[in-house]
Amino acid sequence: MIPFSGNPLDRVSEKRPDKEWVEARRKDPTSFVLPMWRLQPFLLGNEKGPVEAGFLKPGLCETLAAPDAPSVLLGVEGEHALFALDISAAQDPASEGPLAGLGHFRDMRAAAALLPAKDVAILGQAKAMIDWHQRHGFCARCGAPTALADAGYKRVCGACNTEHFPRTDPVVIMLATHGDACLVGRGKHFPRGMYSALAGFIEPGETIEEAVRRELREEAGVIAGRVTYHATQPWPFPSSLMIGCFAEAKSRDIKVDESELAEAIWLERSTARALINGERVEGLWVPPAIAIAHHLIKAFAET
Ligand SMILES: [Zn+2]
Repeated sequence: MIPFSGNPLDRVSEKRPDKEWVEARRKDPTSFVLPMWRLQPFLLGNEKGPVEAGFLKPGLCETLAAPDAPSVLLGVEGEHALFALDISAAQDPASEGPLAGLGHFRDMRAAAALLPAKDVAILGQAKAMIDWHQRHGFCARCGAPTALADAGYKRVCGACNTEHFPRTDPVVIMLATHGDACLVGRGKHFPRGMYSALAGFIEPGETIEEAVRRELREEAGVIAGRVTYHATQPWPFPSSLMIGCFAEAKSRDIKVDESELAEAIWLERSTARALINGERVEGLWVPPAIAIAHHLIKAFAET
């Protein structure tokens, strides 16, 4: 399972405009509320021990939220409705107030390494949604303040009535292959020795295949033919959808764009397999399993 995928919630989008229903579920004792503080999810348990996703009974954390703080209906699982609530206005909610002693707030990437896959997907959804609300308080059309609507899945401008919807930005991430080797690159700001699949945003007027070929050509001077889709990953940093692809390179010629990459190399399949199996290879490592790049390299290594 690729982290942040496999969200089990029924998103009940048809219920979102029903304010009474949403408000009743918001207070229902069978519902759960996930507090998010400055984009970090709440986890039950202390920082050193085992942790669980911080789904709380309604009524516990609401006093920590500002009056207009975003509250988002994430969806329904069986009898339970799940909400995310932004409590960023609180000063130190893990140490003082109603949550003191119950748990802590953790960086989303770190939390993703500790929790079951289904909770990682739900917390990723919460992170992406609260992040969107924090960045879209004003209308992109006229600049006036916007207000939350549809249980958190819309913002509406108070002046010109333009509706704004949560955004998902498509990114292609691709592994070019040539015979028994795949192309990996090192971004200028990567940790020393880390190589990954190349990636870039899809531009308006471009297909997935065209974006894959363009990015490979621009960043590494690699000319690719056939492009095949592998898998996607929701990536809530802040709102990407990573579209994982393979691309058949026409040769192993490389000409790196030094403004984008420090280096690009062809990685032999046997080396890729060793790295994925966690073996030490001098001066080389690939991203951990939280990243879809890991899964692309793994799929190639295991072919
Ligand atoms: Zn407006």
